[in-house]
Amino acid sequence: MAYKFVDNYREKGARKQLVNNLEKRGIEDKRVLQAIGKVPRHFFFDETFWNQAYRDIAFPIGDGQTISQPYTVAYQSELLHVKKGDKVLEIGTGSGYQTCILLELGAEVFTIERQESLYHRTIQVLPYMGYKPHFFLGDGSRGIPDHAPYDKIIVTAGAPFVPELMLKQLKYGGLLVIPVGDEKSQKMVTILRVGENDFERIELDTFRFVPLVGDQAW
Ligand code: SAM
Repeated sequence: MAYKFVDNYREKGARKQLVNNLEKRGIEDKRVLQAIGKVPRHFFFDETFWNQAYRDIAFPIGDGQTISQPYTVAYQSELLHVKKGDKVLEIGTGSGYQTCILLELGAEVFTIERQESLYHRTIQVLPYMGYKPHFFLGDGSRGIPDHAPYDKIIVTAGAPFVPELMLKQLKYGGLLVIPVGDEKSQKMVTILRVGENDFERIELDTFRFVPLVGDQAW
């Protein structure tokens, strides 16, 4: 794919419209809306598809994977309640769009992708855009124990269950946001760590993600 990094009036206008649409759909967190309004989503698309970049849809990014739907990115970001300086682990870098939103929210981001081609693309594109997370290549279903504990963990692929190892990598008071279900649909689940072995779990809306593939996954 040939990337081009120009943010002109047409794209800026479409991005504003997207933010308005997300607000209408129920996203309330102003910081999340501001971040969506700032990150040029069309930079993750070949120029041929720029007219698709600000539609509220997931879109293929190659290797059978997708850039998440803006509503889903906003929904998960809102649930995470990212505070400036939070140490956030993101599992499933994909295009890196969600990563940029987390960085705009002030997080220090550790992001892991299992597909080599996506990883190599993202480690070039994000720094070029000025975004600098810590990149990792590998199976994120086990988290990244070497850098734990985290304030927040976000999983951007559908898991069959909540991996125990991820829970152990949360700080006390830390939060995991993970879609859990079967191949067809997943419930968004939030899990707050309240003590060594105490967790508060909430099940929310239904989504459809690509599968989380790995040792502690499909
Ligand atoms: N939020 C991303 C974005 O905006 O582009 C979309 C991520 S895509 C829906 C899910 C990603 O999770 C895919 O790139 C997939 O390769 C990755 N993935 C699946 N299983 C994984 C695992 N065990 N470890 C790391 N990444 C994984």
